[in-house]
Amino acid sequence: MTLGILGGGQLGRMSAMAGLRMGVRVKLLAPSVSGPSLPFADTTVADWTDADVLRQWAADCDAVSVESEWAPADALAAVWDGPIRPGPQTLHLIRHKGRQNQTLAEAGLPLPRFALCATLDDARQSAEAFGYPVLAKRYEGSYDGYGNATCRSPEDLARAWDDLAADDGLLIEAFVDFEGEVSALVARREGGERAVYPIVATEHRQHQLHAAWLPAGLADGVEEEARRVAGEAIAAVGGIGLLAVEMFVTRDGGVLVNEIAPRPHNTGHLTIEACHTSQFENHVRAALDLPLGDPAAQVPAACMVNVVGSREGAVAPDLAAALAVPGAAVHLYGKPDSRPRRKLGHVTVTADSAEAARQRGEAAVSALAL
Ligand code: AMP
Repeated sequence: MTLGILGGGQLGRMSAMAGLRMGVRVKLLAPSVSGPSLPFADTTVADWTDADVLRQWAADCDAVSVESEWAPADALAAVWDGPIRPGPQTLHLIRHKGRQNQTLAEAGLPLPRFALCATLDDARQSAEAFGYPVLAKRYEGSYDGYGNATCRSPEDLARAWDDLAADDGLLIEAFVDFEGEVSALVARREGGERAVYPIVATEHRQHQLHAAWLPAGLADGVEEEARRVAGEAIAAVGGIGLLAVEMFVTRDGGVLVNEIAPRPHNTGHLTIEACHTSQFENHVRAALDLPLGDPAAQVPAACMVNVVGSREGAVAPDLAAALAVPGAAVHLYGKPDSRPRRKLGHVTVTADSAEAARQRGEAAVSALAL
C-alpha cells in the first residue's frame, strides 16, 4: 500500500516512520526542502499547488493525508479522485475558527460562549454580553498564541480589532477561568469506527505547549465526559484519520472544546511510548482504511516535554547527556537550524507516576542543552 502525505515537517516524519514499520510505502510532497523529510528517499519537493505536480505525485497513492490544515487538499481533490483523509470539507471547516465553532455548537457540543463578529460594534456588544475579559481570535492562521488577544476593556478590544480583524471580522470568546487544559486524540475511519485515546493533560508556556502527560488526573466522570465530547466533535466535523481535540476543564468539572486540529498533534507524541498504538500509527491506519489499533495506555504514566530552541544557530544537541537520563526516549526532528521557540524535538519518559516521568523528561531536555 502507498500512502501520500502532503507536508514535510515533524508530523509527516513521525507518521512516515509509523507507516514504514508496517511495510507501507510512504511518499511525502513538500513545498520546500525540510530537515525532517530529508531522510526519506520518497520525498518530492515541488510547487504543491501545481495541478500537474499533484496529479503525478498522487497517481500511485492508495490514499493521501495531510500534515496540516493548510496543505493544498482542495487543489489535490480537483485533479485526483482517490481518498484524501481527512477530506477537504473537514479541513475547510476546521481551518476557520468561526466555522469550526459554529459546526460544533450546532452538533450540541459544549464550547466557551462565542460570537462571530463582523464589525467592531458587534465585538463590543458581545464583549459586554459575555463580560470582560474576552478573547479576540483571528479566524485563520493563528498558532501558538499568535493571532489571539486577551481583552480586558473596550480599548483593548479596539486595539485587537485593528491588529487581528480580517474582512469577515473576528471571533470573540468568553474568557474561561479553567481548572486545566487537556487534549484527546481520536482516530476515526470511514464508516465511523473510532479509537479515543486516554485524556492527556497539558501545560502551555507563553501559549506554546511545554509538557503533556497521562493520566490526566481528572476527577471521576470528567475523563469519560472529555472522551465522549472529543469523539463526538470529530464525528461532527466528519474527521477521518487522527485528529486532536483541545479542551478546557472548568472548575465545576465541565468540559469545553477549545479547538480541533485535523492531524496528529504535539499533545499526542507521548502515545508512541505510552499507548499500545501510537497516534501516528492510527493516523496511517485510518488514512488507509485499515483496522484501528488499541489506543489504551500500556504504562501507568508518561510525560512528554518539548525541546524548543532558545537561540539562533545550528542545532547541536548533547545527545549523550540526554540519553544518560534513565528511561528518556529522545526524539529530534532533524531540523538543522534553531531559533527561539522553534520546536526541535521532544522527550518522553514512562514511569509509575506522571510526576516522576515529568521530572526525568525535564532533566533530559535540559541535558540536550538546546
Ligand atoms: P488557541 O490558539 O485558541 O488554542 O489558544 C491558545 C491558548 O490560549 C489556549 O491553550 C488557552 O491557554 C488560551 N485560551 C484560548 N481560548 C481561551 C478562552 N476562551 N479562555 C481562556 N483561555 C483561552
